[in-house]
Order: sequence, then C-alpha cells, then structure tokens
Amino acid sequence: MWFRSFCLFTLCLNHLIAQEQPQVLIIGSGPAGLGAACITAQKGYSTLVCTGPTPRGQLNYERPVKNFLGMPQTPGKIIMERLEQHAELARASIVPEEVTYVAQDMDRFFIMTSSGREFTPEAVIIATGTGAKKLNVYGEREAAGRGLNYELNKDDISWHGKDVVVIGGGEDAVQNAKRLAVKASSVQVLVRGDDCKASHADVHALQAMPNVTISFNTAVKGVISDSESVIAVLTDSGVIRCDQIFVSIGLTPNSDLVKEFVECDKDGYIVLIGRTQTTSCPGLFAAGTVADPIYSESFISAAQGMMAAYDTCKYLKAKKIKPKMK
Ligand SMILES: Cc1cc2nc3c(=O)[nH]c(=O)nc-3n(C[C@H](O)[C@H](O)[C@H](O)COP(=O)(O)OP(=O)(O)OC[C@H]3O[C@@H](n4cnc5c(N)ncnc54)[C@H](O)[C@@H]3O)c2cc1C
Repeated sequence: MWFRSFCLFTLCLNHLIAQEQPQVLIIGSGPAGLGAACITAQKGYSTLVCTGPTPRGQLNYERPVKNFLGMPQTPGKIIMERLEQHAELARASIVPEEVTYVAQDMDRFFIMTSSGREFTPEAVIIATGTGAKKLNVYGEREAAGRGLNYELNKDDISWHGKDVVVIGGGEDAVQNAKRLAVKASSVQVLVRGDDCKASHADVHALQAMPNVTISFNTAVKGVISDSESVIAVLTDSGVIRCDQIFVSIGLTPNSDLVKEFVECDKDGYIVLIGRTQTTSCPGLFAAGTVADPIYSESFISAAQGMMAAYDTCKYLKAKKIKPKMK
C-alpha cells in the first residue's frame, strides 16, 4: 500500500515539476501571509497565496483597529484590503484555494488544494493562524451549527431571549458573556478552575448583571443536541438545560497540515529556529500566530510574514534559484 502511494506521489511530482509552478507558495492570506507575499513577489520570486477558509484572515472585520502602526482607528477590512492590494501590486497571485495536503520530497514541496489543484513550489511559507480550541467532549461535533458556537457573530440574533451557556473563564469568555447577557434570557458561565482569568473589574461587572450566574470548578463532560438544536450541557456536577452554547476556551494553532514533519511545541505551535522564521523543515518557513503563542497582534504577524519572506529569499538564493519575474 505504502509503495503504491510512494510511486503515485513520485509520478505526480515529476509530472508537476514539468509544469509552470510558483516558486513560493504561501498558505494563508491574513496579515502574515500577505506581509510575506509583498516581499517574495517584490524580490521577483513568483508567489502564489492560497487564501483558505478565511480570506484576508481574522482582522477582516468592520470595527476600527487601534494598534495597526501608521493606520490608527482604521477598520480591519480596510487594512486587509490595503495589504492585499500591496501584495497584488508586487505581482503576487492570490487564489481562493484551501490547502489540504503538504509534503516534502527531493528538495521540493508537493501541495494539494481542496479543488484538486496541485503545486510543487521550491519554498513554502505557512501562515495559517489560529482557530478556536475545541472542548473535545461527547456530542460537541454534532451540536456545532445547531446552537453551539465558537465565535460571537454580532449579526446573529438567534440567542436573543434564550438561555445561554458560556464555557470558559478567560478575557474573551467574560466579554462574550457580557454582550450575550444584554439580550439573552439567562447566561450561565461555566469555569473549569476556581477563578476567571479576565480582569477583576470585568468579572465584577458580569457578576452584577441580574441574569448571569458563574459556576466555578465545573468541568464540561458532554453536549446534548437533537437534529435541530442544542438541549443541554453535561457537567461533572449535573445537567444544565440551555438553547445556545458559546465555547470560548482559547485558541489553537492551525498547524495540522505540517505537524507530521515540522517540529511543533506541546500546544501545536510551529517551533522557529533562533531569531528567524525558519522551521525544522528546510524550505518551509512559518509566520504569524501559527508559530507565535505570545504576540497575537496583526501588525506583528505582518512583520513576521516579512521576516519569513526574507528568510525564504535567502534560502532560494543559497540554492541558486533565480527569481522568475523581472
Ligand atoms: C475578534 C478579533 C479581534 C482582533 N482584534 C485585533 C486588534 O484590534 N488588533 C490586533 O493587532 N490584532 C487583533 N486581533 C488579532 C489578529 O487578528 C491576529 O493576530 C492576526 O490576524 C494573525 O494574523 P495571521 O496572518 O497569523 O493569521 P490569520 O489572520 O488568522 O490568517 C490565517 C489565514 O490562514 C488561512 N488558512 C487557514 N488554513 C488554511 C488552509 N488549510 N489553506 C489555506 N489557507 C488557510 C485563513 O483562511 C487565513 O487567511 C484580533 C483577532 C480577533 C479574532
């Protein structure tokens, strides 16, 4: 079986090498991916950006962003639009593709996307960001989309007048619970430990809301839903009936694509070498929050994308690969 897969892989690789291929493929089009694309393309390396499920990344929202250097109080959408324009001006190609497979062999990469396209770039920059952490409990997968959410979408009003459970005790969970309590019938916050990690002022403000209860030392064991909606949360201290559940227990890096052959830390963040964006896999560079558990800020991610691009250009130059674009 493995021999057949190997032969197929080698056949695909030889076939693809013969075709026109990008020299650099960037996975992700958030601040890190677009930051990287601006530089590799400007340096003349043919660059393809696969946007993935969230084109322009997490910052692509209407609200003003306070801390993007040089663009104070600019809506996230505008910042991301400008970054995309900059990358296109540098002649990067941006395509609405989600990468589903990455492998490295014979000094080249082999990449497949969900629409069946295949690429064999010389170098890859992974900038896939983070996603919401899952509870990993019984019934969670079935309940997702039936009233169990990982993000609070301001246009969604399905929780108005409903009994809502918020799971988590961090800053995001407390802020979300406060927003939900304004329109929900009741909000019960379930915290695994004996304290919330949010600021005392926020926790007090939440506790003061008349329709909110916070249950500490409560571990979630499962979720019950029927074919249409959520029914209850199972905890180690009993069953809580509810109509909606918001899971807000933190973020996890989207490193699954490469974690089989690239060193990651215990939480799944890609490990970088020294003060570079280089990874344990030669030719594969990482940027943004997929490789950064500390600085979750868009400007920093964009800068890390640029650093990854400079590392990539240095790698290609050392391999004597000349830029294709004049
Ligand atoms: C609600 C919210 C508010 C925020 N507010 C601020 C703020 O005010 N100021 C600030 O500085 N930061 C803010 N941040 C943080 C900021 O958005 C992130 O630090 C930044 O977006 C990280 O950039 P990134 O490029 O690493 O990842 P992301 O922006 O997460 O981009 C990841 C990209 O990877 C793509 N991708 C994922 N998987 C695949 C795949 N298999 N194939 C192809 N592409 C893939 C996605 O589609 C996306 O384009 C906020 C974040 C959130 C969620």
